[in-house]
Amino acid sequence: MTQEQTTASRQTLGFQAEVKQLLHLMIHSLYSNREIFLRELVSNASDACDRLRFEAIADPALLSAGEELAIEVRYDKEAKTITVSDNGIGMSREEMIQHLGTIAKSGTREFFSQLTGDQRKDAQLIGQFGVGFYSAFIVADKLRVISRRAAAAAAACWESDGGGEFTVEPAERAHRGTDIILHCREGNEDLLSSWKIKSILTRYSDHIATPIRMVKEEWDKDANELRATGEMETVNRASALWARAKSDITDEQYKEFYKHVAHDFSDPLAWTHNRVEGRNEYVQLLYLPSKAPFDLWDRKHTHGLKLYVKRVFIMDDAEQLLPAYLRFVRGVVDSSDLPLNVSREILQESRDVKLIREGCTKRVLSLLEDLAQNRPDDYAKFWTEFGTVLKEGVGEDSTNAERIAKLLRFSSTTASTSTAGDGMTSLADYVARMKPEQTEIYYATGDTPAAARNSPHLEIFRKKGVEVLLLADRVDEWMLSFLTEFEGKPLRSVAKGDLALDALADAQEKEEKQKAEDEFKDLVARVKEALAERVSDVRITMRLTDSPACVVVDKDAMSAHLQRMLKAAGQQVAPQAPVLELNPHHALVQRLQGEDAAHLADWANLLLDQAVLAEGGQVEDPAGFVKRMNALLLGRGSM
Ligand code: ADP
Repeated sequence: MTQEQTTASRQTLGFQAEVKQLLHLMIHSLYSNREIFLRELVSNASDACDRLRFEAIADPALLSAGEELAIEVRYDKEAKTITVSDNGIGMSREEMIQHLGTIAKSGTREFFSQLTGDQRKDAQLIGQFGVGFYSAFIVADKLRVISRRAAAAAAACWESDGGGEFTVEPAERAHRGTDIILHCREGNEDLLSSWKIKSILTRYSDHIATPIRMVKEEWDKDANELRATGEMETVNRASALWARAKSDITDEQYKEFYKHVAHDFSDPLAWTHNRVEGRNEYVQLLYLPSKAPFDLWDRKHTHGLKLYVKRVFIMDDAEQLLPAYLRFVRGVVDSSDLPLNVSREILQESRDVKLIREGCTKRVLSLLEDLAQNRPDDYAKFWTEFGTVLKEGVGEDSTNAERIAKLLRFSSTTASTSTAGDGMTSLADYVARMKPEQTEIYYATGDTPAAARNSPHLEIFRKKGVEVLLLADRVDEWMLSFLTEFEGKPLRSVAKGDLALDALADAQEKEEKQKAEDEFKDLVARVKEALAERVSDVRITMRLTDSPACVVVDKDAMSAHLQRMLKAAGQQVAPQAPVLELNPHHALVQRLQGEDAAHLADWANLLLDQAVLAEGGQVEDPAGFVKRMNALLLGRGSM
C-alpha cells in the first residue's frame, strides 16, 4: 500500500549539481546552434524504438503484428508547444528520475571542472560531452515528458523549467512510449511552423531509420493559409543509412548520422563505408571522431560499435567488433548472418564475429593510411587525439603490427624540418633521413618531450647531426618492447649500452677514444671503487660533449625511465645499478685525475647524482647531494 501511495504522489526532486551546470551552460553557449535540440530528441526517440524492437525479439508480445514503430513531431501555435513522440521502449517513473535528473557518465565531475567560463570554448567542450535530452532547454522554458514503459500498466509525467528542480507524478498515456513536450522560450516562436520543423528534420534527421511523421498541411486558398489535413506524412527517408548505396548518401548525411550514432556534437574526421560480401555478409560504416571523448582514459569508458542484425538494432558498444586499440572508432556493423538473439557471450566466441572484427580492423587501418597519405593535416589531428591509443596496437595486434608501425608519429630532434611540417615524423621518413653509415634508429625517452630533448645522451647525436626520436608517452616504453625494428633497422635507446656510433666515427675519433681510455684507466677504476654498489660499471664515453657524465643502462636492462614509471605505478622494481659514463673532454673529469681518495668519493657521488638528475631521475640522498654541492660552491673541495 505504501508503495502505491508513493507512486501515486507528486514528488519534487533536485537535479544533480552537474545537470544544473550543464543546463545553464547549454542555454547560453549553444543558443546559436539551437536547432540541434530536435536532432537530439529525435535521436533518443529512435534509440527508444530500436530498444523496443530488440526487446521484442525475446518477448514478442511487446510488439503486436503489423504495429509500426514511429516518431511523431507536432506543434501547436496557440499553446506554443512542440511535441516529439515515439512508441518505443518508454520510461518508468524511476527511469525518468534516473535518466532525466542525473548524468550517468563517469568522469562527469572532472569534466565540469575543466570548463572555463569562455562560452566559445565551453560550447566545444559540451559538444564533446554530448548534449542529449537536456538540449531541449535551449529553446524551451518548460519541458514535460509523459512516458509509459513497455509492458508497464501506468505512465508518469516529468516536468521542469530547467531551474534546479523537476517534478514527477502519475499520468495517463494510452500506450507505451514517450512524449516530450516543449514550451517554447520567448523568441523561439519561429520554430512553430511546419516548414521550419520539416527543414530542421531534413537537415539533421533524414538518416534516422525510424519514420518521422508530421501532420500534413495544405494550402487553404479561401483562408489564404496553411491548414492541417488530418493526414500524416513521413518527412524523412526512413531507411537505414548504411544500407543505402554510397552514391546515394551526401557528406552532410554521413556527418549527421555520425552525430546520432556517436552522440557527438562535432563532425567526424573521416569515415569508411563498405558492404562485405561472400561467406560472411555485413555492412560496416566506421567513423573516426575529430575529438577524443572526455573520458577516453576512463577504464569504465564504453566503446565499440552499434551492432545490427538485418537492420534490427541489437546492442550498443559491441566491443568485440574492434580491438581495444581502435576503441575510438564509432559506427555501425549490420550483419546478415548473426542470429537475432545474439548475446555478448555469443559474440565473444562467434567465428563470424572474429571475421567481422578482422575486416573492421583492416578497414580502419586503410582509412588511417589513406588519411596519412592524402590528408596529412587531418592525420596530424587524429594523431594528437588518438595516437597514444593506436600505439597499443603495436603490442596487441601482431598481425597488423607492421602496418601500425607505419602509422606511428614521433617528435624528433629534427622532425620540425620534416615535410609534414607538424613537428612529427613517421619511422619511414626517419629512415629516409638516416646518415649513409647509420644502421640503427635512435630514440630517447623521458617524462616529457622537453626532458627527452634535453637529455645529455643526445649530445653526440647533435654533434654528428644524427636524428633522435623523442618519446614521452607513458605507453612508449611498453610499445618499444614490441617495436624492436622497422624495415630491418633496429630501434635503439640512446641511454642503453654501448652505441653503434662507432660506424659514424672516423679513424681519428676512434683513436682518440682509445687514447682517452688508456689515459683515464686509473681514474675509472678509482671512481668505480668509490661508488661501489651505486653503479654496475664506470667507463669513458665519447657520447657527451657538454656534460661531464651520464648514466646508461645495459642494452637489455630496463631503462631508468621505465623503472621510474613502474615505481610510480606502485610496482616492485628490483634496483638496477646504472653504468656511469665519463666525458674525458670535460674539465671536471680531467680535474678528478689528481684528487685524493676522500675528495674523489665526494665528487664521484656528485657526478653520479647530477647525471641521474639530468636524466629526469631522483637522487637517492638529496641531503647528501646538497651538502656536497654546497661544499663545492664554497670552494672547500680541492677542485
Ligand atoms: P544519451 O542519449 O546520450 O544517453 P540523453 O540525456 O539524451 O543521453 O538521454 C538520457 C537517457 O534518457 C537516455 O539514455 C535514455 O535512457 C532516456 N531517454 C531519453 N529519451 C528517451 C525516449 N524518447 N524514450 C526512452 N528513453 C529515453
